[in-house]
Amino acid sequence: MSAASKKAVLPADVRPFTKVLVANRGEIALRVIRACREMGLRSVAVYSDADARAPHVREADEAVHIGAAPATESYLLGDRIIDAAKRVGAEAIHPGYGFLSEREWFSRAVRDAGLVFIGPPPEAIAAMGSKTAARQLAGKARVPIVPGTTEGLADAAEARTIAERFGYPVLLKAAAGGGGKGMRVVHKPEDMESALDTARREAKNAFGDDSVYVEKYIVGPRHVEIQVLADAHGRCVSLGERECSVQRRHQKMIEEAPSPAVSPELRREMGDTAVRMAAAAGYRNAGTCEFLLDRDGKFYFLEMNTRLQVEHPVTELVTGIDLVQWQLRVAMGEPIPESFEPLTPRGWAIECRITSEDPNNGFLPSTGRVSFLRVPAGPGVRWDGGIEIGSEVGLFYDPMLAKLIVWGPDRNSAVDRMHRALLELTVDGIETSRDFHLRVMEDDEFRRGAIEIQWLERRLASLTTPRPPADVARVAAIAGALLAERDRSARRPNGGVAARNAEEPAWLRAARSEGIR
Ligand code: ADP
Repeated sequence: MSAASKKAVLPADVRPFTKVLVANRGEIALRVIRACREMGLRSVAVYSDADARAPHVREADEAVHIGAAPATESYLLGDRIIDAAKRVGAEAIHPGYGFLSEREWFSRAVRDAGLVFIGPPPEAIAAMGSKTAARQLAGKARVPIVPGTTEGLADAAEARTIAERFGYPVLLKAAAGGGGKGMRVVHKPEDMESALDTARREAKNAFGDDSVYVEKYIVGPRHVEIQVLADAHGRCVSLGERECSVQRRHQKMIEEAPSPAVSPELRREMGDTAVRMAAAAGYRNAGTCEFLLDRDGKFYFLEMNTRLQVEHPVTELVTGIDLVQWQLRVAMGEPIPESFEPLTPRGWAIECRITSEDPNNGFLPSTGRVSFLRVPAGPGVRWDGGIEIGSEVGLFYDPMLAKLIVWGPDRNSAVDRMHRALLELTVDGIETSRDFHLRVMEDDEFRRGAIEIQWLERRLASLTTPRPPADVARVAAIAGALLAERDRSARRPNGGVAARNAEEPAWLRAARSEGIR
């Protein structure tokens, strides 16, 4: 096929562009802005009242104010964002993750406005938009799903009948679900009615849709997901797996690539399955198929996330492929190179989500002003952050402040490196999840890779029990040296004056050796 005829078959909404509006905030907005800059594309940030001084606003080539602090009055106003793009002459919109990224209507509205949506076409989002629709499609594509229903439940009686068939425990899930919301485990028939009511209410509040279906609750599986990338020329590749089993309340906290439980054969098999699923949906751009992997190596499709994932950097570090740049390239019509497949991961990468939550206080959200920030650095360390000194952390947006990602030649060295990087991280002014992550890196079971999706909830008490963190131990050592110095000074004839004049006191030396000024 000649280059010209290849060009002719490209969909109308796939074409080159030079200016990209980033419809998001925080670390992911910065991530996209960086990719644009590296590719010589101009970037446009959008911001709410709360983000006027945010780093993403400063780093972009241009910025447009779009509304008040609540997301419903700014980052979720798709029409206003499209208007902003047209006004500043941006020809493409990158939605990041969250906010408008998986809204079918937004992808369509961007296309209808004559702009390029850097993500899948609306039809593909719709095909995967509800968990029940995705389960039906999986059935057609011969992709194994967790046993359960593929349609919403009528009432608790129906739910009980189905649960009897699969056996308890079962999991009630919102069809429109996301972020672990609208999900309830039910262990016995008499709990079904109230669990269904709660799941429905939560789903209605979070997604405006109270449809709930039932799945068998699987005990002891891992969450393993496959990154896929599909271009506009009909090529779709799998870029390997991510292990995301360290979860609290069905939400990921630590991710790694590859997975300690995936052999090269299983990687190929899961990869082929994910590609089949993506093809069935008419997928384009970057996407992720999530699976539960049981102890016997059997896997079940959960859902497809039709966007860039929070945890995409671990895949980038072990494949050397810049996923955000490839999102942009695919949206412009560039074909995926042959070299992307088959793919063997190189080394090991781990990501910790640094959130403004207090692990020693039930992960209660913490708010305030970042008064000091020391960002980890050195070999193999990557910081994808959205905060800086002076940032105000409020309750309007997601508590994730940054992602700390490390690479090492193997899993043990990656874990050690993450531990070292976390020790370097200092955030003052708000509570963060740092100490929790440190303890996970020290945990024997985690270090052995013996994790599954219920592991963290079981282990949480030992990982969050308040105990003096390293910093407190250092302060105690310095205080001890200070007291000893005072005692010595008191015993000298002219007290502390001689000590001050003679040499640095021991406490100051101790403080200096700890890097405290
Ligand atoms: P969401 O879209 O809300 O994130 P998912 O379907 O992706 O929901 O599930 C989130 C997490 O909940 C999974 O990673 C897994 O840990 C757990 N989970 C989901 N389905 C099941 C199931 N059938 N059995 C056990 N755990 C499950």
